[in-house]
Amino acid sequence: DVLSTKGNTFESFHLKRELLMGIFEAGFEKPSPIQEEAIPVALMGRDILARAKNGTGKTAAFVIPTLEKLKPKVNKIQALILVPTRELALQTSQVVKTLGAHLGIQVMVTTGGTSLRDDIMRLHDPVHVLVGTPGRVLDLASRKLAEFDECRMFVMDEADKMLSREFKNIIVQILKFFPRSSSDGNGYQSLLFSATFPLAVKSFMEEHLYKPYEINLMDELTLKGITQYYAFVEEKQKLHCLNTLFSKLQINQSIIFCNSTNRVELLSKKITELDYSCYYSHAKMPQAARNKVFHEFRQGKVRNLVCSDLLTRGIDIQAVNVVVNFDFPKTAETYLHRIGRSGRFGHFGIAINLINWNDRFNLYKIEQELGTEIKPIPAEIDKSLY
Ligand code: ADP
Ligand code: MG
Repeated sequence: DVLSTKGNTFESFHLKRELLMGIFEAGFEKPSPIQEEAIPVALMGRDILARAKNGTGKTAAFVIPTLEKLKPKVNKIQALILVPTRELALQTSQVVKTLGAHLGIQVMVTTGGTSLRDDIMRLHDPVHVLVGTPGRVLDLASRKLAEFDECRMFVMDEADKMLSREFKNIIVQILKFFPRSSSDGNGYQSLLFSATFPLAVKSFMEEHLYKPYEINLMDELTLKGITQYYAFVEEKQKLHCLNTLFSKLQINQSIIFCNSTNRVELLSKKITELDYSCYYSHAKMPQAARNKVFHEFRQGKVRNLVCSDLLTRGIDIQAVNVVVNFDFPKTAETYLHRIGRSGRFGHFGIAINLINWNDRFNLYKIEQELGTEIKPIPAEIDKSLY
């Protein structure tokens, strides 16, 4: 359960009294799990890379330690919170203001699409926490309108969105204005929050975070233990290809994915005609029928299941050792949900993607996005892999 905690209280973090007041006035009684994990570690000064589902209180998880570390008497920007959009900047600054209401600190929001002159005026007065989008923040930093030489806290929310190609460079530029360390590590602390960690976040972490503490409160799907292959086939050859796979592979149970309900039914029919036992399931079937299929498949009554994406999420049938994308999925997320398993169980499997001419760029894109390798299918597949 994402909302069950270890029973810590906000008092147990030994926060300033004024900060506790803000927290309780916001109506927070107990820390959420991500807050429970992140706040104590952040208070100790460690860099953090944290993943948690939406709506689980990530904002306060970085705002509370940020506020605790501020020195209200020092009239300099001490924390920068970067977010991808103006709306989120406003919302986040509101959380900073609410939780920090009794700390005597000043918060400023700066985003693209607003008057730079207003920002310049605003910067004449003290700013302790700056919340903004990357482009405008870099603009202010480059013109020396905003100074970051005392900024000891760097926060990035929605880090996966922030580190897309367009933003990453800007962020790296911004960090050049941050204090340097005389010894190990950086001269500032970094807190990165996100719901997913694509490759871009990982590589940023390796370059710019110092011994980050990783928190993962997602039920993560992983591709560990799953060897992925592709076979380049024309649409017309797919069934023939599948038939060859069936005859060559030692399938315990298999799931075969198609991209439409029509194709699910059609393929299932063809497979049955080839004399392999097969069920199908798709979104247009009544729920009761779907449940029955899934239940019997799980019991091992039938060896193969053809389906659409409706039941990709949360599938973890240990007996399935082969997954086939008869149709290649459109997005990395769908791919991961079809192929990935919750990594707690270290069982092995293979995934075979039938790729036609139109899929070829998507194959590469998904491979990149998931930081995984999809190899051309060899003539023989080692049985120890599945
Ligand atoms: P996330 O960024 O993880 O999607 P938010 O930080 O936006 O989640 O928080 C979601 C909602 O939960 C907000 O309305 C927030 O005020 C509320 N919230 C956060 N922490 C707590 C808490 N400890 N107790 C009660 N409500 C909380
Ligand atoms: Mg959030």
